Amino acid sequence: MALIKTDDEIAKMREGGALLSKALQSAVDMAKPGVTMRELDAEAERVIRAGGGVPSFKGYGGADPFPSTLCISKNDEIVHGIGERDIVLEEGDIVGLDIGLWLHNLATDMAVTVPIGNISKERKALLRTTRDSLYAGLEVIKPGAFISDIGTAVESAVDTKKYGIIEALVGHGVGHAVHEYPHIPNYKTKQFPKVKIKKGMCLAIEPTVTTGSKEIATDEDGWTIVTEDGSDASHFEVTVAVTEAGYEILTPLPEVKI
Ligand code: MG
Repeated sequence: MALIKTDDEIAKMREGGALLSKALQSAVDMAKPGVTMRELDAEAERVIRAGGGVPSFKGYGGADPFPSTLCISKNDEIVHGIGERDIVLEEGDIVGLDIGLWLHNLATDMAVTVPIGNISKERKALLRTTRDSLYAGLEVIKPGAFISDIGTAVESAVDTKKYGIIEALVGHGVGHAVHEYPHIPNYKTKQFPKVKIKKGMCLAIEPTVTTGSKEIATDEDGWTIVTEDGSDASHFEVTVAVTEAGYEILTPLPEVKI
């Protein structure tokens, strides 16, 4: 499993990323009070399949595979919420929508957290902070920098007196598999092997930020990861390809008004 993708593979991932972005945008557009998670999941899957792609999260995992196209995670749910639930979205909720696909045998991965109707100013601030921290992490990506520089930059964009950065959830390489080496932590640490960033690497950068603690718990459904203290959580993610001079976003984020 080569860490470096060829120009041809990156061109295919760009195509996959555009389709993924379109599918996510369709779910974002529907994400309003009164809509169920199951309806968003069905729409995202429809758009992916209509474009010739295959949802990559559906069927992921061993004995008890993930059942849906989208991971939909509401309020204190951080990631991996099961999309096909009959939970009705309500005014004031914040909802993470995480999605991945296969196109031309290559995987891409992305996520946004969206407001449902009007949300509190605290929730707006959480979403903005998380999105800003993602962009801060991207800014340092270029050949010769280190993977650990990304986490340092993400953390520097988060007021850690006010917010928690989940350390148990990390970004990752992506392309030939849904999750590839290397792990990409979202905080300053020397605990991971030192990996130099090289042209042609494809990376999923995905900070998860909470209004409370860094501790996580798994819901009884076996998939949904929640904050242990019940605080709110937010998650943004893009897949990028490392270029000669920096990076290219292969999965443009949908327009989300926060
Ligand atoms: Mg990911």
